[in-house]
Amino acid sequence: MPLLKLESNFQNVIPQNHARSHTYMDALAIYSLQKLWKNYYYASGIGFSDFSLKGNFIQDPAHFELLLFDCFSTSGLRLISAGGEGDRNDKIEFIADNPIAQKYLHVCIRKEINCGVCDKCLRTLLALDAANKLDNFREVFDIDAYLKIRNQAYIYCHDKAAIPHNAPLYARTYKILYERHKNFFDSITPATKRMFKAK
Ligand SMILES: [Zn+2]
Repeated sequence: MPLLKLESNFQNVIPQNHARSHTYMDALAIYSLQKLWKNYYYASGIGFSDFSLKGNFIQDPAHFELLLFDCFSTSGLRLISAGGEGDRNDKIEFIADNPIAQKYLHVCIRKEINCGVCDKCLRTLLALDAANKLDNFREVFDIDAYLKIRNQAYIYCHDKAAIPHNAPLYARTYKILYERHKNFFDSITPATKRMFKAK
């Protein structure tokens, strides 16, 4: 199928916090081309088993996109959250050996090439690390740069996994890495935790 690229100055007119608005903005993009679709399969942000309405005014709408997409659907266009039967680690493992993903995977919320230091790049790199698939993605990530900050990234993962709302994004990666590097994670103190933040 031909690739369609959609651009908008929406953010310039009404600045949005990406993490709190991305599902709504994506629905807006889908509806702006609604004559092209009957059913639109949207890559789920959070596994179905982590559905939650808690803190829905201030948290990531991916937690309740199953409900949102049902509300947004009309008789002419049905929005479907797809792939939520697995979590993000399942998805990483699913694509890790795919040459197309290795060449084109783009997750960054800051730049057109993966910056490697924003929350989403780090989350993906940590999951690739947990899956032992880092080397497969040297074409789209600076893996050597990640390896240089890997200890800090592990501390970042440790802190993120401790926040209940982040559990669907970090807990399973943390569990795998913890079992692999128990001594390192057990040595993290409140002082070391403050040394690193995603940009
Ligand atoms: Zn990034």
